[in-house]
Amino acid sequence: MFLINDLQRHNQPLAEAVAQATRRVLERGWFVLGPEVEAFEAEFAAYCGVGHCVGVGNGTDALELALRAVGLGPGMRVATVANAGMYSTTAILACGAVPVYVDVDPQTMLIDPSALPPADALIVTHLYGRMADMPRLMAAAGRMPVIEDCAQAHGAMLDGRRAGSWGAAGCFSFYPTKNLGALGDGGAVVTNDAAIDRRVRALRQYGWTSKYTAEIPGGRNSRLDELQAAILRLKLPLLDGWNARRCAIAAAYGLAPRGGPDDVVHLYVIRCAGRDRLRAALRERGVGAEVHYPLPDYRQPAVALEAVLPHTERCCREVLTLPCFPEMTDEEVHRVRELVETLLDGRESESL
Ligand SMILES: *Cc1c(COP(=O)(O)O)cnc(C)c1O
Repeated sequence: MFLINDLQRHNQPLAEAVAQATRRVLERGWFVLGPEVEAFEAEFAAYCGVGHCVGVGNGTDALELALRAVGLGPGMRVATVANAGMYSTTAILACGAVPVYVDVDPQTMLIDPSALPPADALIVTHLYGRMADMPRLMAAAGRMPVIEDCAQAHGAMLDGRRAGSWGAAGCFSFYPTKNLGALGDGGAVVTNDAAIDRRVRALRQYGWTSKYTAEIPGGRNSRLDELQAAILRLKLPLLDGWNARRCAIAAAYGLAPRGGPDDVVHLYVIRCAGRDRLRAALRERGVGAEVHYPLPDYRQPAVALEAVLPHTERCCREVLTLPCFPEMTDEEVHRVRELVETLLDGRESESL
């Protein structure tokens, strides 16, 4: 089966560099929140064009700690979309706050800036690698703190500014399948606000402001470890090249509307009314297409909130993710494209 992503092909060429980084950490004997994390934080902050970066355990924790750091607590309302895989909802509920769902633009599948409800904070997800309309969203949010979910948009830019540098804070995941992926879990919060930086630093370690003094309530243990930071450091200089290749693959597919000029591609997502049939036909022919994401957050059994957002519902019914990863060859892209086109035309095809 040809899957949507191939982490072996992605990471195997880095085996020697990873072994060196691992040896370095092993020989130093410092494994959590040490010099590799500190160096990665500085390098990633510079890459994002922000003043601060705080490494945390994963992307969902990044969202939760960022929400807490801007003052979110029990009973407060956080506006977010419902088509982006439950991550923002999970973080909101972890704070004891209440998600308020906003519909998406039917074309871009990103948050619709004209539909913002009153809330205490806003999470904006740059879904599939596409930048949301940050100038309009920042204007519409007014004094509401805006948190960007950049877990699918490492390196994306709009008007010359990176994802994560627009809002009060930007949250990243380094889950292995992300555009910048560790070899395990990892995450980060980036910000230009020194107070948010300080609070997230405390919150990721029991609320400590100094060792064994817990000053900030709502603290957790959510730390980036040295091995993952060392691996992220060797991968960061390769990110722009990988993103460029992902964009070239998307352009070669040409089966979905193009994004903005400085978007990146995380997932290559097409839309089709007969999505489930197309997916089954692709699988029969050895191509593993996936659905990101099948169920709006408010319909998840663990959430079950009252909402009906027509564009969100339609996205969840129609989206289909095709294989896209930097190591895919032109030949492979061509074969998948031909197969999809043939199936959409209703013609029979050879198996891939
Ligand atoms: C992957 C992802 C997250 C969560 O990251 P984890 O590290 O798995 O917790 C959050 N938001 C989006 C949009 C993601 O794709």
